[in-house]
Amino acid sequence: MRYAEVIIDINSSNVDKIYDYAVPDDIDVKPGIRVVVDFNKRLVEGFIVGVKEKSDVDSSRIKSIMRIIDSKPVLTEKQLVLAYWMKERYLCHLVEALRCIMPVDVKKSMEMAHMVVELKVSIAEIEQFIFSNKKNTRQIAVLKELLNRGDNPVKASELIKATGSDYGVLKRLKEKGLIDVYYIDTEKNPYSSCNYGRTERLELTAEQRKALDEIKKGMDASKGKYLIHGVTGSGKTEIFLQAIEYNIKKGKDAIVLVPEISLTPQTIERFKGRFGDNVAVLHSRLSDGERIDQWKRIMDGKVKVVVGVRSAVFAPFKNLGLVIVDEEHESTYKQSDMRPKYDAREVAERRCELEGAVLVLASATPSILNYYRAVEGHLNLLRLKKRVNNKKLPYVHIVDMRQELMSGNRSIFSKELYDEMKNTLARKEQLILFLNRRGFYTFVSCRLCGYVMKCPHCNISLTFHADGTLQCHYCGYSIYMPKSCPACGQNSIRYFGMGTERVEKEVKALFPDARILRMDVDTTRKKGSFEKIYTAFKNREADILIGTQMISKGLDFPGVSLVGIITADTALNFPEYNASERTFQLITQVAGRAGRGNRQGKVIIQTYYPDHYAILCAKNHDYEGFYRREITFREKSDYPPFSELAVFTLSGFDDKIVKEKSMLLYDIIETYNEPDIQVFKPMPAMLHKLRDKYRWNIVLKSKNGDILRYTINRSYDKIKSMLDKDVLISYDINYITLI
Ligand code: ADP
Ligand code: ZN
Repeated sequence: MRYAEVIIDINSSNVDKIYDYAVPDDIDVKPGIRVVVDFNKRLVEGFIVGVKEKSDVDSSRIKSIMRIIDSKPVLTEKQLVLAYWMKERYLCHLVEALRCIMPVDVKKSMEMAHMVVELKVSIAEIEQFIFSNKKNTRQIAVLKELLNRGDNPVKASELIKATGSDYGVLKRLKEKGLIDVYYIDTEKNPYSSCNYGRTERLELTAEQRKALDEIKKGMDASKGKYLIHGVTGSGKTEIFLQAIEYNIKKGKDAIVLVPEISLTPQTIERFKGRFGDNVAVLHSRLSDGERIDQWKRIMDGKVKVVVGVRSAVFAPFKNLGLVIVDEEHESTYKQSDMRPKYDAREVAERRCELEGAVLVLASATPSILNYYRAVEGHLNLLRLKKRVNNKKLPYVHIVDMRQELMSGNRSIFSKELYDEMKNTLARKEQLILFLNRRGFYTFVSCRLCGYVMKCPHCNISLTFHADGTLQCHYCGYSIYMPKSCPACGQNSIRYFGMGTERVEKEVKALFPDARILRMDVDTTRKKGSFEKIYTAFKNREADILIGTQMISKGLDFPGVSLVGIITADTALNFPEYNASERTFQLITQVAGRAGRGNRQGKVIIQTYYPDHYAILCAKNHDYEGFYRREITFREKSDYPPFSELAVFTLSGFDDKIVKEKSMLLYDIIETYNEPDIQVFKPMPAMLHKLRDKYRWNIVLKSKNGDILRYTINRSYDKIKSMLDKDVLISYDINYITLI
């Protein structure tokens, strides 16, 4: 007798175990095949993760597999190893990891998507079979349905639905030679209609060549981890393209990860232009059908390159040779809004180790963590110090807004920014204005009683929009602006702060003839609107682009010679240990949009902290200087990379109960605590009230990540017992930002 080790596809911590099932003799099983089993009297799906000759479970209690779903494994051994690694690292359930590797929507319809069924023998033979096999009711139902339909082939999914049968029935009929089951190609490729001009390989600069040669050495050895630190415009993408070309020559596949906002038509253009239909694109705006089709093209070996966002790190290539993570400093590589809270950079690295692939991380502003790892020798550091064609980095000027105020200028534009805008427009060049806040006014209150307009569901001030609404940027709550103060009834509302809408209005007033585009969440909600604004600006149909951080990423506008950062302080004021890092990155990336054409660009930074090292180093394009300051600060205060942080977040509708539970949980953790771990007393989260729920955080910090995980794992088993419907608990290991 053989036994299969099965992971039940139910997402519950109680079921997060391996269950043994007996394998009937006529079923062929392998790890990676999905099965249907009886679990507590329910038919559920599961994944086989192992097959063995003996089981420790009492033979009278062991149940048999009902049927198999797949004829061949949908998960490779390495994918299973990766899933186990994710479970350990992110403390998730194994099925949660497996669901990343084999997304549910893909899983459901993959084998059915384009499978068709056709009768293989004459109608007489079918009728003979039906006559002499009356007991095989399900097989007969399928055959009858096929006879009824007449026009073959029939979609397998339709057939199964109409007859209530399953893939196993089709398989048996196929084995009997009565029907044929095969795939047809009806790919929905959302990009196939676009006409991408082929781009030829560029002659590399000396710096590019050196970096590429190093990466090629890694590919020859089937291992290697690289961090490319290349200034904006240094031609990192061309290195990626030629590395991929080399990878393809070796018969291997490549994954290119990009942050969501930089997965622009321009990025896709570059890869499609070089590799044509060999490229699949995965992003979150694909429909289910489109995603399944892309996934299937990858599985079937029809493409050699995937360009995609975070989840594309799981692209089901069988012969992976290269993973590139562009803009590796981006926090969106970390999944922070749902479980498992994985970090695509770490998963990429682990996957490369498992599959003998080369990892290339790249950024103009590498994350402090990875730069530190490079300095420590864990990653090979490759530097690109010059822009292609020796184009100069932009000239950066800092304006001290305190002085502006003192000199009586209350406008949102300093005199210098205003003058430069005027000059740029006079020269018929383009400019970008950056502000990381959308809406019009960010704060509305009553000047008489001090009442602040806040979201009733989130304890956060509402943003006033030009259409006369007050909106919550966290939950989407929206009301019309009241005429008078809801608290005291007086007509004395006052507005503070600024968002992109206000910038747009003020620019219009100052430069009535300028053509203006605005790019933020509000103007890019509709499908295709981002692309429209992007193309219009690129084609110089506008003079000024106003935008949030959406505009900071990888966009190449040769016509832009001025970038104005309306305020650099939004990120700096964030109460997070990495506030300086984020500020430096943001300024450098936004500044990098200037001067990509023939003229040297100019950047003006407006700030109330002109002496802050994040701002000064960004001005001087001095990454190393910034790194030295920042790493000293991190070391002194024991922040990552010198420690790891984990956080439990408790949330519920009753603040008092949530607080009490937090205290209880704190006590539990303390009892499991190891000397190496610092546990901080429960604190209200930065967004204490969010979507009507009150939230408390407990932060743990340790120099030893393994002990931290181990402790959390152990205490979590106990914590689960105190979970109830009043309070939800989530945790995040290695978290980056808390809200
Ligand atoms: P990065 O990603 O490092 O910011 P890009 O890859 O966007 O830089 O390159 C900037 C520009 O330089 C692009 O327009 C690109 O086509 C061009 N470029 C890159 N490498 C070369 C080269 N070797 N010769 C000429 N132009 C190049
Ligand atoms: Zn809200």
